Amino acid sequence: IWIKCLEVIHKEINEQSFKTWFEPIVPLKVTNQTLSIQVPSQFFYEWLEENYIHVLRKAIDYAMGRNGMLEYSIIVDKGDKKNPPIAYNVPNQKPTVPVQAQKRPEPTVYESPFQLKDLDSLDLDSYLNPHYTFDNFVEGDCNRLGRSAGLAVAQRPGVTSFNPLMIYGSVGLGKTHLIQAIGNYIKNTHANKFVLYVTSEKFCNQFINAIKNNTLQAFTNFYMQVDVLIIDDVQFLAGKEKTQESFFHIFNHLHQSGKQIIMSSDRPPRELAGMQDRLLSRFKWGLTADVQQPDFETRIAIIQKKLQADGIYIEDKVIEYLAHSIDTNVREMEGVIVSLMAHASLNRKEIDMDLARATLKNIVVDNEKEVTVDTILDAVTQHFEVNMSDLKSKSRKKETVFPRQVAMYLMKEFTNLPLKSIGYHFGGRDHSTVIHAVQTISDMLETDKDVEKTMQKLYKYFNRVRVKA
Ligand code: ADP
Ligand code: MG
Repeated sequence: IWIKCLEVIHKEINEQSFKTWFEPIVPLKVTNQTLSIQVPSQFFYEWLEENYIHVLRKAIDYAMGRNGMLEYSIIVDKGDKKNPPIAYNVPNQKPTVPVQAQKRPEPTVYESPFQLKDLDSLDLDSYLNPHYTFDNFVEGDCNRLGRSAGLAVAQRPGVTSFNPLMIYGSVGLGKTHLIQAIGNYIKNTHANKFVLYVTSEKFCNQFINAIKNNTLQAFTNFYMQVDVLIIDDVQFLAGKEKTQESFFHIFNHLHQSGKQIIMSSDRPPRELAGMQDRLLSRFKWGLTADVQQPDFETRIAIIQKKLQADGIYIEDKVIEYLAHSIDTNVREMEGVIVSLMAHASLNRKEIDMDLARATLKNIVVDNEKEVTVDTILDAVTQHFEVNMSDLKSKSRKKETVFPRQVAMYLMKEFTNLPLKSIGYHFGGRDHSTVIHAVQTISDMLETDKDVEKTMQKLYKYFNRVRVKA
């Protein structure tokens, strides 16, 4: 029956869409005139319903007759055995009415390891996010040492010389993912070990509450029974003398008893100002490994992995474009992919080059509400090393014409100024000059890679200005 359906569908839509949205579907069974198909993700299901419901109806009509129904089964969070696939019943009678489907459950929020009031009823939960695993952590030069040390620790917690294991690096590069992957691995292989994940911030708050409520002893005892302590973002402990002291004692106790300690930090130990020396020297007992910005190939692999997890197919050249455009950190890359999927679904478009370009542009624009005429002028003068007065003059010198056109283009893109006002900032030029500048730069962006790079640099400049402000 499904093959019959596919025949119909194939005739109705183009090859690319067919490959993207119909080849990944797995037919499951037919019962009572209902065809069950399995789709790779929630997004996938929504996309089919949004865009292809008519095609599907037609196919079902042809293969099963008017009374045929369709039922979706969605693979929820592959690899997480706790969540069985949710079946979505889709009565196919009225295909035009959007189907009320159960939404995928919200991702679990991993909150504080324990509330102090709950001390008596501790259930020894780990507070790990099961989605962070070694399997979906892409290895690259940027994280090779940390990953292999992490794996060694995961296989033999407390036994290797990597104790403590400290992973450091700037934001969004996979520290939390990696240290949680270690925890999940240990939990799955050593069911009897008590693994605990806690952020330093949480640890601090618990400590403060313990003091307030006179439960310091309970707090300390709790932490001392942990077999594997994973403590994220230890830089947060800087300057917090009392909390550090408490952590120092817990650390010593665990270390002496052969328990594993895993930490992350946004900078190397030597740069952790405000941290007690005795604590710092202990951090160095084990192994310190950094995670760095992924290179181009690793970025591609990470994007592919994410798409695969969502069951989405995107052309290689689009993936390359994304990997090329976002080189800051992995979290941002993921953010862009999510927006891309949202835009695709909202505008009912395939995820292609045009959409990727438009989405990236929108993301920059959305973020940059505060980009003003002044920030643009600053960025352009600094980037091209031209004088403000030359930029604003009527000079036709070659060195100033291009930067001026770039500035006009950026003002048109980022501000709501009328063309006339934009012209006003450049020696009172009229709006047709501005139109010409905008057109020139747009054309160059399409054809000239260098211009595209220049623009991306400028966009980044705005980002910095915005963050600093
Ligand atoms: P950090 O703790 O360093 O700020 P995270 O661990 O929170 O960064 O990572 C940010 C996001 O990027 C997470 O969703 C994580 O899964 C993802 N990520 C980072 N590095 C990798 C990698 N090497 N492979 C796959 N996903 C990654
Ligand atoms: Mg983190």
